[in-house]
Amino acid sequence: MKNGFIIAIDGPAAAGKGTVAPVLASKLHGYHLYTGSMYRCVTLYCLIHAIDITDEKKVVDALGDIAIAFKDDRYFLNGDDVTKRIRERDIDTAVSTIADYQGVRHAMISQQQYIGKEKTQNGAIVIAEGRDTATKVFPDAEVKIYLTAKPEVRAKRRLKQLQERGLVNATFEEILKETIVRDEQDMYGNLGYLVSDPAKYGYDIIDDTDKTEEQTIDAILAVLKKKKLL
Ligand code: C5P
Repeated sequence: MKNGFIIAIDGPAAAGKGTVAPVLASKLHGYHLYTGSMYRCVTLYCLIHAIDITDEKKVVDALGDIAIAFKDDRYFLNGDDVTKRIRERDIDTAVSTIADYQGVRHAMISQQQYIGKEKTQNGAIVIAEGRDTATKVFPDAEVKIYLTAKPEVRAKRRLKQLQERGLVNATFEEILKETIVRDEQDMYGNLGYLVSDPAKYGYDIIDDTDKTEEQTIDAILAVLKKKKLL
């Protein structure tokens, strides 16, 4: 097996990236880089400190006070473990706003590139998960996967996740609506960082609407084999 390369997994909200990426990382003894956690941490910081998220300058100015750290799939904001908190619904609905700010993206992407470089130089396989990891963060990634599923299926999964965490105070229809709005913001927001035409960008597209987690992992492993990386 080849070492020291990047697998970038992009795709829309609740497509299964968050489930598949850590499992793949553990199978390949690789490093899981969950880029969305960083945007979520910035959003949480703003909510805690009552920073108006619609005020781009205030959000960008706050970046200097925000330290984000990862350890064993746990996420820390200025030293506090916020792993569970950053997955709550108030963050879901606010995060796209701050993720649309050029200054925020620039800072997050630099940190992600630094981590990717450090890990791959040390021989690790980095499984980077996000919505721009193959286009903006690691355009030279050896493997680019676009994971997607029908909006109804993604909304159903999101609702299940929220229910499992005891956080649900929404109906399926509300979550479906939120999912569609997030897709629009993520694809056609000011910065258009989730590609709407993944085939053009050299992704291997995997639609997991009818796939189990295991079948999705197998489909990614098949891409690695095809590229002679396994
Ligand atoms: O992946 P996750 O859904 O946790 O990401 C939360 C949000 O962070 C996304 O909806 C998107 O607005 C933003 N994000 C981003 N770029 C990434 C990862 C996430 O803009 N690479």
